Amino acid sequence: MSRKKIAAANWKMNLSYAEASTLLDQLLEVCPTNAINKIICAPFPYLHVCSEKTAGRIDFTVGAQDCSAHAKGAYTGETSAAMIASCGATHVIVGHSERRTYHRESGEHLLGKIHQAFSANLNVIFCIGEVLAQRKAGEHKDVVVNQLLEVLSGLGKEHLSKLILAYEPVWAIGTGETATPEQAQEMHAIIRNQMHAMFGDEGGQVAILYGGSCNAKNAKELFACSDVDGGLIGGASLIADDFATITTSF
Ligand code: PEP
Repeated sequence: MSRKKIAAANWKMNLSYAEASTLLDQLLEVCPTNAINKIICAPFPYLHVCSEKTAGRIDFTVGAQDCSAHAKGAYTGETSAAMIASCGATHVIVGHSERRTYHRESGEHLLGKIHQAFSANLNVIFCIGEVLAQRKAGEHKDVVVNQLLEVLSGLGKEHLSKLILAYEPVWAIGTGETATPEQAQEMHAIIRNQMHAMFGDEGGQVAILYGGSCNAKNAKELFACSDVDGGLIGGASLIADDFATITTSF
């Protein structure tokens, strides 16, 4: 079975409702219908309209950028995985470095979110990656392996079909500084080997996306790497033509 090819857009906290609506209309027009899975990770208030607009396109799905580690109840301001699913979304990002940093999300907390997501039948895009100081200290390989062990040891093989990984070196996110294809391939191979060690052959089949200043110019050389199955795209996903180019860079 060949691995899925994926271009995931992370709109982060950008765009008004009207702007988001227009961008999605443009994306649906300029992205050719093909075998590449396009996942639009939109802010919570836009999930429903995005799901409605993409309903006619099998190559488009919609995701949230986070979910609560709790099922329901007195958690003011939080959004549950079930709520996300009820808006028509099928995916959720968990463990993005911006949330790990600004909200101090621990491994245990992230595992709680992942379990909630799976209970709501959502697919999870789980993000891992080292910060600059860790790379400079030569710790980057151990960091990502430990991030996998810390959280994914709590999962079973039955969860793997709903799991996508995103390797996002934190020093490359939103900085314009991209990992070289050699750096990306090296880390993706380490992640794939670790998944194989933890879960066997099915673990090695989990899609691994690269994220960190991936754009219309550099996507092709990154996606050409044998263990890179696509990208998680921030800034460049806000420009329809650029995201469309990325979706055709496989
Ligand atoms: C991201 O937010 O996941 C990301 C990769 O952002 P950017 O592409 O802007 O670096």
